[in-house]
Amino acid sequence: MAELACYAVSADYSRGRLFQEPAPRLRSEFQRDRDRIVHSTAFRRLEYKTQVFVNHEGDLFRTRLTHSLEVAQIARSLARALSLNEDLVEAIALAHDLGHTPFGHAGQDALDDCMRAHGGFEHNLQSLRTVDLLEERYAEFDGLNLCFETREGILKHCAIATARTLGDVGRRFVDATQPSLEAQLCNIADEIAYNNHDVDDGLRSGLLTLEQLEGIELYAVHAEMVCVRHPGLSGRRLIHETIRRMIDTLVTDLIGETRRWLDDLAPQSVDDVRGGSPLPGFSMAIGTQSRALKRFLRDNLYRHYQVLRMTAKARRIVTDLFQAFSAEPRLLPPQYQARALRDTPRAVADYIAGMTDRYAIREHRRLFSVGED
Ligand code: MG
Repeated sequence: MAELACYAVSADYSRGRLFQEPAPRLRSEFQRDRDRIVHSTAFRRLEYKTQVFVNHEGDLFRTRLTHSLEVAQIARSLARALSLNEDLVEAIALAHDLGHTPFGHAGQDALDDCMRAHGGFEHNLQSLRTVDLLEERYAEFDGLNLCFETREGILKHCAIATARTLGDVGRRFVDATQPSLEAQLCNIADEIAYNNHDVDDGLRSGLLTLEQLEGIELYAVHAEMVCVRHPGLSGRRLIHETIRRMIDTLVTDLIGETRRWLDDLAPQSVDDVRGGSPLPGFSMAIGTQSRALKRFLRDNLYRHYQVLRMTAKARRIVTDLFQAFSAEPRLLPPQYQARALRDTPRAVADYIAGMTDRYAIREHRRLFSVGED
């Protein structure tokens, strides 16, 4: 890895792991974190979890897995350009959605409703719970025993009351300080990834049209650039050439703004970053365009009636499963039954959150359809 800036997180000065382990011989601590994440069960399940479109709706739509890979790829470009820790951003990006329920945000909202009287459910916190507790792979500890800096990056947001129960990793929410720049950039890389791939998936599905997008400045400006450079280009190539330019503009703008901000702040260490103001993100003009695209996607894609029908179905499946397992915890697989003895609602939520879309559908059928095994 190229030399790190003084404000980057260095693996040599990590705040370490909850359970002490000998240092890795051939890898950095954050490479080890990334490898543990890639080998985890929760990571493989991302392949069959909804991003916007349910996994079985089409082979070409993004899933949580390909989304996470796209986030990692953008985050690594940002980190390399800014001399930040590429291994760390890769680990954070690959783990950031591990706690997502089946059926995307619809599943998360349904599970949160079910858990209202029991502390709620939040996928971001569940990602941390997955790497801290739920993975069962190692002899000496629960979870993946990741470094503080990776865990800090996974926990993007958190209510203060909950943060107080999380020890070190929750402290910044109580103190109103910042996480590392690596963590802050992963958050923005997530947004760049989904805004752009949801345009692509929205068009592919036919739920969005090119005419609609031509009214959105960020899209229109780049489509125009493509038409000037490649007159007559149409179809998928036109869309892809436009989206790649949008990503390039967003990434370049973010790097430029971050460099300017770093020049002003002149941090001498990662602690200066943590104690300072949050990263400003995009320039005023690009930030405005990016937010307009986000609003457009919310109103026209995420709230499209065909997506909402899926949402309604997902809500019913998650709610039915939660009620059935809560009423009769002995229906749970053995390892969750043991957890249910301590806290039934949380054990049920953990089980449901871990399910892939198709597993949840099958479990629902097994529990509610006569004639199924
Ligand atoms: Mg994400």
